This record gives sequence, C-alpha cells and structure tokens, in this order.
Amino acid sequence: MTTRRNQLEIFGQTIPPASQHSFDIPVGRLYTRSDISIPVHVINGRSRGPVLLVCAAIHGDELNGIEIVRRVISSHWIQKLRGTLIAVPVVNVLGIIQRSRYLPDRRDLNRCFPGSETGSLGARVANLFVQEILRKCHCAIDLHTGAIHRDNLPQVRVHLDNEKAAAMAHAFGVPVIIDAPIRDGSLRGAGDDLGIPIITYEGGEALRFDEPAIKAGVDGVRNVMLHLSMLPPRKRPKKSFDSFVAKSSSWVRAPSDGLFRTHATLGNAVEKDDLLGVINGPLGGEEIPVRSPCSGIVIGITHLPLVNEGEALVHVARFDAMAAVSNVVEEFQQELDTALAVARESLSIDGDQSADD
Ligand SMILES: [Zn+2]
Repeated sequence: MTTRRNQLEIFGQTIPPASQHSFDIPVGRLYTRSDISIPVHVINGRSRGPVLLVCAAIHGDELNGIEIVRRVISSHWIQKLRGTLIAVPVVNVLGIIQRSRYLPDRRDLNRCFPGSETGSLGARVANLFVQEILRKCHCAIDLHTGAIHRDNLPQVRVHLDNEKAAAMAHAFGVPVIIDAPIRDGSLRGAGDDLGIPIITYEGGEALRFDEPAIKAGVDGVRNVMLHLSMLPPRKRPKKSFDSFVAKSSSWVRAPSDGLFRTHATLGNAVEKDDLLGVINGPLGGEEIPVRSPCSGIVIGITHLPLVNEGEALVHVARFDAMAAVSNVVEEFQQELDTALAVARESLSIDGDQSADD
C-alpha cells in the first residue's frame, strides 16, 4: 500500500512529495448558473506510504466531520506524514447549501454509489467521487453524525469480514464498534467492490458541532494513521481504549404519539425492560412507558420530544460483555470531558494543540 514514486496525480494535479495542495473538482452548475465544486486538500508526505482518504458530509447536514477534517489538516502532527492524505471536508456540496442530508432531487448520496456518468444527479456526483478520488486511495475513513435531532455516541461502523477495515476500526480507538453489513449504494459498498477498506465514524448529531464527538474523531483519524504507519509512533504512547463489537442493535420505537421525556443518556448501560422514558399528551394525562427491549448500551437518542407512534427514540447496541463495555464507555467519556476541560482552560480548543510529542 504505497504510492509508486510518492508523487500523486489527481484530477490533473501533480502533487510532489513533501507538499500540500488545495483544489476544487467541478460538480456542475446550479440553475442560477453558479458553479458548484467539491473542495479537496491533499497532503503528500516526504516518504512513500499509504494513500488515506478522509471525507465528510456525504450527508449535507452532518457538520462534525468537516471540523474533524479541518483540525486534522491543520494539526502539528500531520507535518510528519508518511504517504498521502486526501481530505474532502464536504462531499455533498449540493446538500450542504440547503442544510440538508439529501441532494436537491431528494436522493440520499450514500445510496447512489458507485454511481454512473449518465445517471441521476446523485449517481453522477457519486461516480465523479469514485473515479477521481476513491480510486486513488488505499483506504478511507468516512465521517458521519446522527440524523437531524438524533445524537450518536462516538462509534465506528464496519463490516468485520473485511480484515483490513476491521483492524482500522479497532485502531480508531472508540469503545463501540458496530458490525454493520455493507448497504447497497453506500461509499463503503463502493470501497468493498474496489478492494478499498473503508470505516465509517459516527458521532454527535446533524447541524451541530459536538466537541466530544469532534475530539474523538480527530483522535481516531490520528490513531488509524499511526496504525497504518503513516505517522511516527508517539514518544509518549497515549492510553488507548479497548473497542467492543456489537453484532446487533435495536431502535426502540414510540409506542404512542405524544411528547417524549427521556431518562436515558448516551453511553448508559440498560437492562431489558428498563424505563428509557415516558410519553404523554400535551395536557399530561396517561404516561406511556418506553422500555428497553434488550440489555445493552445507549448509542443513539432523539433530542426532539415530539414523536409519532413508531418513531425511533433510543438506539441500543447489544454486547456480550456488558459490564466491561459499560466501564470502558464511562472511562472514555470521562477522559474526553477532562481533555476538553483542560483545553478550554488553556483556550487552545481551536486546533488539536495537544503537545504530547
Ligand atoms: Zn450520515
């Protein structure tokens, strides 16, 4: 997994070793005649190594990944890069204009891969991205958040049958890994077809910056780069968290319409039949309990109290070693809180300034 001469040719640009370059890949025009393009930043290291793609906002309202990319490419440690980083902070450049998860034709771009040159708008954007970016890479990290009003515990999704992707998922260093089969039309699926291992990171919710999820994402990208030997080992190795794999997860759905008041928070360990919250009408009245269908860890939750019957409220991941997972999740959350408190105190929250090596 190395670049041949450590010189990358991408979309007509030649990026020599020990250099970085920003450019735009034209996607097309809006009907107002405004040109639309995907911004790309390439950092080519001094020596040969893997080509890693880090991309975000395939869903146009998922913003944490954009900030993760910004911090990675402006970090002090990226200067020691071996190999090549291709950073694409916004893939769905049409969706983000409308602050929308979807494309203007209401398609989900992450169901349009690998796309085609002559298909729908989504198919064309997907095809352009695969041909011009993904095919140049050896592996990739795709950054996501929960959907609108839905918050996700930092977690990695991967198909564990893919050994290289599984190793990247474990290296990322968040406590929860979801063994998620490949979905038709997803970027992960396109990577699978091309033999390019891709992991998906999920953290926080749409249209928000979530500092813990961003910090965990930046740390995760750096950990994967260390795993791929794209960075020299840390002089003072950082404490790493064991990751636990959930083979399945369930969304707990609203048993009735009304206003949902939750008792659960992200990272909570819950037992089967534990009370996750209650639903009542606008005048109060009968409180309908919402109970967990299984024991597990809360990995997703809605923040919108207005619910219709059947709507997804709380996402619970099932684990065999529940107590161990719960302890590691708690430790992970405390560690993040401490790091953020220290960063706020020193007013160095902008950029990843942790000077550990
Ligand atoms: Zn997403």
